[in-house]
Amino acid sequence: MLALSAEGILPKVDYAIFADTGWEPKAVYAHLDRLERKIAKPAGIPVLRVSSGNIRKDALNPEHRFASMPLHVLNQDGRPGMTRRQCTGEYKIKPIKKKVRELLGHPYPQRIPKNKFVEQWVGISTDEFHRAKDADVKYMRNRHPLIELGWTRTDCVRYLASIGLGNTPKSSCLGCPFHGNQQWRNIRDTSPQEWEDVVAFDAAIRQGNARANASGNRLLGQAFLHRSRVPLDQAPIDHVTAAEWAARQQELDPAEVAEELEEGVVDGCSPWACRGDAEPVQDDFGLAS
Ligand code: SF4
Repeated sequence: MLALSAEGILPKVDYAIFADTGWEPKAVYAHLDRLERKIAKPAGIPVLRVSSGNIRKDALNPEHRFASMPLHVLNQDGRPGMTRRQCTGEYKIKPIKKKVRELLGHPYPQRIPKNKFVEQWVGISTDEFHRAKDADVKYMRNRHPLIELGWTRTDCVRYLASIGLGNTPKSSCLGCPFHGNQQWRNIRDTSPQEWEDVVAFDAAIRQGNARANASGNRLLGQAFLHRSRVPLDQAPIDHVTAAEWAARQQELDPAEVAEELEEGVVDGCSPWACRGDAEPVQDDFGLAS
């Protein structure tokens, strides 16, 4: 959408906002720098980077109140569960709202006059229109320009390739428990350092987050990043799931989609369309909050 706006295909936006969880893959930060330098700056669109902290550090810091990631849990009685997902709200939506309030001239806790609002564009394509939602505050009104253009995911991918951004990576935390096997394999096979990082994090959260442990609210079970509930470096990530096959078929049709974009199968985490919404998050089983 930023490129479409910069090119004048969509109206010019006043700002682009990136909510940084502090734990994106290197490729995402490099891409953001490139977008800013080559597209946003020349078009006079400021890219605002906002943050509530570093999700990885916070999870491991016993002093820090941690907004939990959706970890896969194996309870003491062997039943599977999942911790509640609070991270998108804390690390993405909250800092964006804070910035928007500042831009409107009414930082928290000031009241915002009724008729003052921003129009916020959310980049959802027609094949995921069910993720399009209204904002939950009156000072932000969501629009979905890609849906209005009638663009599918393939249209977006083709457009990105046409402007030299065919290798656009998906934004999401490096160690997001919603990753599918393809994303885990991609980290393991292309970035040994980042793989080491996620494997170490996975081991460190086995007993839950550090603050809960320090305060005596221990997790009554074990937590894992991989959905198999097996330590990440032993998890069956080479298994190609039925969902992955289906996604591959969808992605590679039509066949002219550039091969380099095949990695685009992986989902990202967007503040108002987090893929966590597609995941049936179960109740906490025996979890201390
Ligand atoms: S990418 Fe995953 S871990 Fe990161 S904020 Fe989104 S849901 Fe949470």
